[in-house]
Amino acid sequence: MTHPNSAVSALESLWQQHKWPDLATRQLTYTQIEPVLDALSALPMIRHQHIGRSYLGTPIRRFSIGQGPLVLLAWTQMHGNESTATAAVLDWLKLLSSEKLTELPPDWQQLMTLHVIPMLNPDGAAAGTRETAQGIDMNRDALARQTPEGRLLWQQVQELKPSVAFNLHDQNPYYAAGPQGEPATIAFLAPAYHPDKHVDGPRLRAKQLIAHMRQILSHYLPKGIGRYDDSYSERSFGDAIAGCGASTILIESGAHRDDSTRQVARRLNVIALQAALSAVLSGVYQDYSLADYYAIPANFADGFVDIKITQLTIDDGQHAPYLADILLKCRDNDTSAYVIEFVGDARGQRGLRELSAQGLTWKQLPRLGAAAEELLQLVDADR
Ligand SMILES: [Zn+2]
Repeated sequence: MTHPNSAVSALESLWQQHKWPDLATRQLTYTQIEPVLDALSALPMIRHQHIGRSYLGTPIRRFSIGQGPLVLLAWTQMHGNESTATAAVLDWLKLLSSEKLTELPPDWQQLMTLHVIPMLNPDGAAAGTRETAQGIDMNRDALARQTPEGRLLWQQVQELKPSVAFNLHDQNPYYAAGPQGEPATIAFLAPAYHPDKHVDGPRLRAKQLIAHMRQILSHYLPKGIGRYDDSYSERSFGDAIAGCGASTILIESGAHRDDSTRQVARRLNVIALQAALSAVLSGVYQDYSLADYYAIPANFADGFVDIKITQLTIDDGQHAPYLADILLKCRDNDTSAYVIEFVGDARGQRGLRELSAQGLTWKQLPRLGAAAEELLQLVDADR
């Protein structure tokens, strides 16, 4: 799909050619990204620093490019099991260092400095958990700062004083972009810095940048971009950093149909981040209003289930057969193992996958919580 904006099309094809090939998995660990971090640190233009260690001693590293006064800071994977944007920022750094992004002004490295901290929570990444090795959700540790990872992020923000900050996460696959929207493959938020949700200058700029990114991405995702709830959370880093005067932008990577490893969200993160960087330099974000931000449909929780099977005939051989829809949920994020979550009339519910069982008969009574492998074989075999 060619984007009408030639710079975006060029970026997309550069990404296809130059993305790191070994990062196309749903979960990334430090061991997996370490060769890429080492390769990046050797690239021209990129400065690299070990800035700290996780609770269990894994290095946390920072990559910087440019020497200009306008400071951008991006971090990923403070939740260990949310690695989509880690792949994206590593791709982005490689592309920036390649000098092939022709839409940037020739002196962009004198105008701005970009710092990227990929994988803030490597212990959680290794364990496949949201939390750090201490069992702490580090995104609730912005004030207490009981984790070395949280202290490190806070210290980096105080030292670097970013004008624009990107807080990069993954969200569960069940969010829709509005009640009738498609899966929210990307969701944005300019977090509040106060319970009253004031919009000061930096927050206005964050909202304008989001409106611009949404405009660029809407070509790929006309119904798949959501706006995250902005309830103030003083313990959370995005909100706390917005309170330091940075234009703070949360990007949540989400599901896309038939994309279990979230490569669509990975690609769109690169496009969105580059659009924001470019817009910060050109000032084009000032063309957008608050209304453009609020026009993004609200991220709608539980808009989808994993799999919806419709119109299955159930016949236990002893009673009259009956019709039921069946909803399946994947077990422990394992996208190959499903259990029965609901039996009955599921109209109004939408599945990330929807399978018709019309004309098919299941010869036992379904039980909630039961494994669905055999049922899926029956329904899938018919397709
Ligand atoms: Zn998260």
